[in-house]
Amino acid sequence: MVNHYDAIAIGAHPDDVEAVMGGTLAKLIDKGRSVLMVDLCDGEPARHAPPGERAAQAARAAEILGAHRMTLSLRDRMIQDTIPARLELARLIRIHRPSYVFTTLGSGIHPDHKAVTDIVVNGVFYARSRNGAKFREVRCFPGQIRMKSAARSLGIAEWSRPGRFSISR
Ligand SMILES: [Zn+2]
Repeated sequence: MVNHYDAIAIGAHPDDVEAVMGGTLAKLIDKGRSVLMVDLCDGEPARHAPPGERAAQAARAAEILGAHRMTLSLRDRMIQDTIPARLELARLIRIHRPSYVFTTLGSGIHPDHKAVTDIVVNGVFYARSRNGAKFREVRCFPGQIRMKSAARSLGIAEWSRPGRFSISR
């Protein structure tokens, strides 16, 4: 797995990212950009799939798109915007230094889908913090992070809003 990614796309469960913005990721990758897909949990147990099937499908989706993918260890249906969750995202962002961070905009009644938006926005905020003692060993990265509702991501030409975060050295 490479260290730097041009874009990181973060969803609550396996299949969220590709369902919401798979086309945009395909465009990015087609233009030579590196993409990391991140699922906050493994989505287990799943109602309509035996254990492990979602993971296999997620890996196959990333393979088809040409992205890398990783799964964090939060618990399905119990994802909350907590300090540890924000810090985990901030750590990930600092390690991979993306130019763009995408997440889904909370929708429907699933609490995980509501929580992931806040975790990512707050994680970006933490990643940018110069005073975060936990990250003192990691340098801020140059460029900009743009938060955008993946649901509104119809193409890379439309990246600009909302919530633009400037990163300074
Ligand atoms: Zn989901």
